[in-house]
Amino acid sequence: MFEWSETDEMIRAAVRAFIDKEVRPHVDAMESGEMTPYPIIRKLFAEFGIDALGAESVEKMLAKERARAEAGADSEPKREKSSGGGPFGGQQSMMAVLIGELSGVCMGLVSAMGVSLGLGATTIMSRGTLAQKERWLADIVTMKKVAAWAITEPDSGSDAFGGMKTYVRRDGEDYILNGRKTFITNGPYADTVIVYAKLDEGDGADRRERKVLTFVLDKGMEGFSQGKPFRKMGLHASPTGELFFDNVRLGRDRLLGETEEHKGGDGRESARSSFTAERIGVAFMALGIINECHRLCIDYAKNRTLWGQEIGRFQLIQLKLAKMEVARINVQNMVFNALESTQAGKPPTLAEASAMKLYSSEAATEVAMDAIQLFGGNGYMTEYRVEQLARDAKSLMIYAGSNEIQVTHVAKGLLAQ
Ligand SMILES: Cc1cc2nc3c(=O)[nH]c(=O)nc-3n(C[C@H](O)[C@H](O)[C@H](O)COP(=O)(O)OP(=O)(O)OC[C@H]3O[C@@H](n4cnc5c(N)ncnc54)[C@H](O)[C@@H]3O)c2cc1C
Repeated sequence: MFEWSETDEMIRAAVRAFIDKEVRPHVDAMESGEMTPYPIIRKLFAEFGIDALGAESVEKMLAKERARAEAGADSEPKREKSSGGGPFGGQQSMMAVLIGELSGVCMGLVSAMGVSLGLGATTIMSRGTLAQKERWLADIVTMKKVAAWAITEPDSGSDAFGGMKTYVRRDGEDYILNGRKTFITNGPYADTVIVYAKLDEGDGADRRERKVLTFVLDKGMEGFSQGKPFRKMGLHASPTGELFFDNVRLGRDRLLGETEEHKGGDGRESARSSFTAERIGVAFMALGIINECHRLCIDYAKNRTLWGQEIGRFQLIQLKLAKMEVARINVQNMVFNALESTQAGKPPTLAEASAMKLYSSEAATEVAMDAIQLFGGNGYMTEYRVEQLARDAKSLMIYAGSNEIQVTHVAKGLLAQ
């Protein structure tokens, strides 16, 4: 693959038309927090049939599992190898175009959507029992309900599992959950929340080594509260906040897999299995930011006149444009490679996805900062949009595992060869 297919380009044209009509007029309202991204995501889903596609693929999967259960087979799901597509398995190319186009205008919206589907729905899909999938999945993949995925805590970000303090204790057949999560995308508004917690068996075992269990909570449960959206540097359209658990009683039906001995390993494994897809998703978003900066900068370089000539004639401006082009080619090639290898049944490894995330997030941030410089004073003004792209891009270097952590994952892959 060296270029987007005709179908991809048709989708791009349709997505751009949707963005012009339904997203751009509301970017300021989402940036100020006056409006959440969810009504627009729902419109997008309806317009492009994404809700129907998601519902159909979930229904197909459930039908297969029901048949297996009726045939007497073990109904606990086998852990499926992630192809990076989440509930939209075979549609990665369409999702890449959609994510890229939206990210160039409002990356927060993509982030809110991506966490709900790519982390929320996918975790239930890969870890839940048939009954749990029937209970939660259809509403999430159609975006009727918004999901959040909560690992990070005030004292444990990069050291997510070792430092985790949120815990459950058994109480008869139930569990009692206590603790707190932070920086959770969709946290303030989520209807369904995947929560990772340590199992405290009261035996004084080393807290770092305790088993991690994964639960599903619903908004409004007694003892569960959701904080207000944080004020952030960028990504304003994506509400981020804290979650608090004060003696929340959880039945076993809320423990994903309904067993402490999940075939796919404990919650650590559950989270790790999402990393590859999440990191490839970051490259899709980075490409969107780069493409938009590239487009805006070329246009500005041709139209801004100083010293009697277009600024595009100045070599230092040309250097910025050339560096943007190199970044665009590199990140696009990485995206093409990931799409093609996934299609061929050989999706990127975790180390490769980490390398993509590391490079593409830095490239997008650098390109967007250069775009501000190229625009001069206008670049620093909200009206010209590149400052928003730079603020949004920076988040890509921090979430989905900070870039320092990506370095360790790339190196681990290399040293294991
Ligand atoms: C916008 C946004 C949305 C988010 N959404 C979610 C979400 O939906 N769910 C969720 O669970 N979390 C979410 N997070 C949290 C995110 O995953 C963490 O912020 C991230 O993992 C880093 O953790 P930390 O913030 O605690 O930084 P820390 O772990 O405290 O890191 C501080 C610094 O130390 C560096 N560092 C850490 N360990 C090492 C090491 N071994 N070697 C070298 N350097 C190291 C880090 O890279 C960083 O530069 C979100 C964060 C943001 C900003």
